[in-house]
Amino acid sequence: MQAIVLHGKQDIRYTTDYPKPEPKAGEVLLRMTYSSICQTDIEMWQHGMFNWGGKPHIQGHEAAGVVVEIGPALDEGPSNERRGSKLAKAELKVGDRVAVENVRTCGTCFFCRKGTSQLCENGRNFGFSDDGGLAEFGVWPASLCIPLPDNMTNEEAPLAEPTSVAVHAVENANVVVGETAAVIGCGVVGLCTLQVLKAAGLKVIAIDPREQSLKIARELGADEVLNPNEVDAGELLPGLTNGYGPDVIIETAGAPGTGMDAANWVRRGGRVVIVGFSHTSQDDINFGRSHMGEKTIMGSSATSHDGYRKAVALIASGAVNVKPLISALVPLDKGIEDGFERMLKPEKDVYRILVGNG
Ligand SMILES: [Zn+2]
Ligand SMILES: [Zn+2]
Repeated sequence: MQAIVLHGKQDIRYTTDYPKPEPKAGEVLLRMTYSSICQTDIEMWQHGMFNWGGKPHIQGHEAAGVVVEIGPALDEGPSNERRGSKLAKAELKVGDRVAVENVRTCGTCFFCRKGTSQLCENGRNFGFSDDGGLAEFGVWPASLCIPLPDNMTNEEAPLAEPTSVAVHAVENANVVVGETAAVIGCGVVGLCTLQVLKAAGLKVIAIDPREQSLKIARELGADEVLNPNEVDAGELLPGLTNGYGPDVIIETAGAPGTGMDAANWVRRGGRVVIVGFSHTSQDDINFGRSHMGEKTIMGSSATSHDGYRKAVALIASGAVNVKPLISALVPLDKGIEDGFERMLKPEKDVYRILVGNG
């Protein structure tokens, strides 16, 4: 079958003869529709980040597909897969369109049993350690497939992944209706985060140096936008909030200094959630400031249990609009040229490129 396979650092290849996978008990075979390429894919390809195991694997962790086959019946599989198999029977049928979660957690470690499966010690990731969605077919545990409502398109479905990251970040921020939040970085995750914050009843200030991103942020509901190349955001924020600064700042840029900006700009007693990641960011935290201001600074990684379902529901309801974030649709055989390589250009004018045969 066709697939886009990462062989190692700066070595990604399109092939037509990757073996077609077969579903085991508790799993389903999907005909993949679209996967979106994000900066993490580029970091893996260009800098060798996250390539756990080091063996060639299919890229694509923001993926969606259509169920074409359900794995063997539950009495044929090992006992620990029976739950997934039951779910496959109960919820999924051939022809269902689904968004797929990209983390396979163990369910038995300390963190999974505490309900914090995003911290699983034994987690495996589709598109990172295991084969992802940039192929004609993929095999996924039925329990990680979320059926799409009729009004949600195959193009919108992969964007459930960044939306689920936004849902988790907003939940980690413990937001309260009526508070004010700032979002630093208006890439795809930032633009999803701003919409989830609006859906949760907050006033939102979007901060980004790219005018195009601020324009989209405004269209997607930002109450205020600030360009740090033109204004001193730290100076203006108190006046746009309660006089002291945002109650919550969610940092999604992962650029040098932006985590520190968030810590400095949030009001005393406020909460900062760090979502952004980059191989270049090297901030020194001044713990004294955090101590004096009783500021909470926490990380937020991937999404929590149910984050994906909430993301699908938010997109289907229209509370999160991902359509302006889809920059191009590219078939699998052009995915490297028109997808991965286009993302490398310094004047990159894209949010998400969807790759797949639809
Ligand atoms: Zn991603
Ligand atoms: Zn676990």
